Amino acid sequence: MTNGEANGPVTCPGCQTRENVSVAEARTDKRGRREDLTTRLASAPNHTGDGCIHFCEGIVLAFVAGAAGKYFADERHLPWLTAVGAVVAVLIVVATIAIVRGETRDARRVRAGASRADALTAEARYCSTCQGVFYPSGHPWPGIVTPEHFRHHVWTAAGYGDQLDPKAKATELP
Ligand SMILES: [Zn+2]
Repeated sequence: MTNGEANGPVTCPGCQTRENVSVAEARTDKRGRREDLTTRLASAPNHTGDGCIHFCEGIVLAFVAGAAGKYFADERHLPWLTAVGAVVAVLIVVATIAIVRGETRDARRVRAGASRADALTAEARYCSTCQGVFYPSGHPWPGIVTPEHFRHHVWTAAGYGDQLDPKAKATELP
């Protein structure tokens, strides 16, 4: 094996060509963007969900539920609808807090695992011929695997495998 260089050209164990780039490079180059490798080879979930925005949405929904209850109570002369609206509003607030807390916790776990994920990504290479990922060292696996396998491995090892999408989660590591 001549796969000593960390960043030099290395031979793919799948097709024996050297048409491969580092995973970091594959995510951002033109072909990678076209094939959505930015997402498929991501080493962490993309937490675009802003906790504050979700919180505000929840409060607005709760307010709407409360106001709707009050409105229809007056309109239909059904005073108990005010109570129903209030109960629904409270449930929405409780659910919103639970969701925002969960998101915050998920994001914190991703930050905590970032260095582990980076370490696992640093050596990985993407072969465009095989459309898969391999490690020149042969660790943690010797052959080539799909981007979903790779994602499964990195996210699980970094401690947030539960945040994988169902497709990646369903993959079995070799
Ligand atoms: Zn290959």
